[in-house]
Amino acid sequence: MALYVQKYGGTSVGSVERIEAVADKVSGFRCDGHDVVVVVSAMSGETNRLIGLAKDIQDTPTPREMDVLVSTGEQVTIALLCMALNKRGVPARSYTGSQVKILTDSAHTKARIQDIEVQSMRSDLDAGRVIVVAGFQGVDAEGNITTLGRGGSDTTGVALAAALKADECQIYTDVDGVYTTDPRVVEGAQRLEKITFEEMLEMASLGSKVLQIRAVEFAGKYKVPLRVLSSFKDGPGTLITIEEEDTVEKPVISGIAFNRDEAKLTVLGVPDVPGVASRILGPISRENIEVDIIVQNVAADKTTDFTFTVHRNDYPAAEAVLQKVAAELGAREVVGDGKIAKVSIVGVGMRSHAGVASKMFDALAAENINIQMISTSEIKVSVVIAEKYLELAVRSLHSAFDLDAADVVSE
Ligand code: ADP
Ligand code: ASP
Ligand code: MG
Repeated sequence: MALYVQKYGGTSVGSVERIEAVADKVSGFRCDGHDVVVVVSAMSGETNRLIGLAKDIQDTPTPREMDVLVSTGEQVTIALLCMALNKRGVPARSYTGSQVKILTDSAHTKARIQDIEVQSMRSDLDAGRVIVVAGFQGVDAEGNITTLGRGGSDTTGVALAAALKADECQIYTDVDGVYTTDPRVVEGAQRLEKITFEEMLEMASLGSKVLQIRAVEFAGKYKVPLRVLSSFKDGPGTLITIEEEDTVEKPVISGIAFNRDEAKLTVLGVPDVPGVASRILGPISRENIEVDIIVQNVAADKTTDFTFTVHRNDYPAAEAVLQKVAAELGAREVVGDGKIAKVSIVGVGMRSHAGVASKMFDALAAENINIQMISTSEIKVSVVIAEKYLELAVRSLHSAFDLDAADVVSE
């Protein structure tokens, strides 16, 4: 019999009825003789609601108090799910992150898991109990409550599966697997039977929020068998695999990811001398602002235009830093655009196929979509475009790379 760690996301526990449905599912696994450790998110919308309450009181609350606040959402769902299980005659116990204990560093709101104590979980499993653990939260060495970043319950699930050497970590959500792109944007998106960790990591990093990036990293590092499934309907879901498929048969592009949360900043007319990039980006990183794509072009007049993207939330802070830096460097001007989006095509098949980027650019040109920035790696090509063209771009790339429903060869 197997040990499964099953993570149920916000929509899957979004109401009492949904929690009852999860309890039915879990008790079904128990009836089949499997051991189950459940990780739950807060009810959908709850974490946002809590953040809203905090902002009503203070613009920038301390990260420590934010963690105390937002971790409460998951404490509600673990208790309710245990009640629903107990009602069904399934012995179950709920645990918060600090009770387990899931030890993290002290980086409040984005803590990293360092260690998980498995002893008492093993005793519960041996005693025939289902364990229900609050996702997204942990505790630091001083006993402070920490959280793992938005979407962090996925990481709790994978980390527990790694610590307990579970047979599979199952991420139950509101879609029945990982799709070629977000099925909410492209109706003809296809569920993938399998996707490699490497591709999934790119997809998650480039904006596909179906799995938290850290969860994929963790699963890849500790070789945790990982599957994304629907909590609403039965089916095989999508398996995240280590080995690459026979790439000859595989489509060149596995998926299309996109991200609306970016903004672009340009320093125009910077003198083209050594050290400029460091003098521009140094102060940005000292403000803890992460930079994504960077492009620098040198003009004939020996000046350079330096452009980069940041998360849209960081746009005002980054612009303020740049105004100061530009004055110090004798640059001509700082311009910015908060209404951009990034679209990326991802696939390990790119390694063995030429012309993928130009096919992407052709498809965008055919729709008259202007490319503002380009960034590539071995298995992805990303472009920055005006946000208003995002959906058109994703749909046209989905067709251009033959990913639409009717085009996909049966898996
Ligand atoms: P949960 O609350 O269960 O953690 P999320 O909202 O975090 O669920 O993730 C599921 C959502 O991810 C889906 O509803 C879907 O809109 C979105 N999504 C984005 N890209 C993809 C993709 N490539 N495949 C499947 N879902 C995707
Ligand atoms: N409740 C948290 C969030 O909304 C964690 C999660 O759902 O994974 O981000
Ligand atoms: Mg999620």
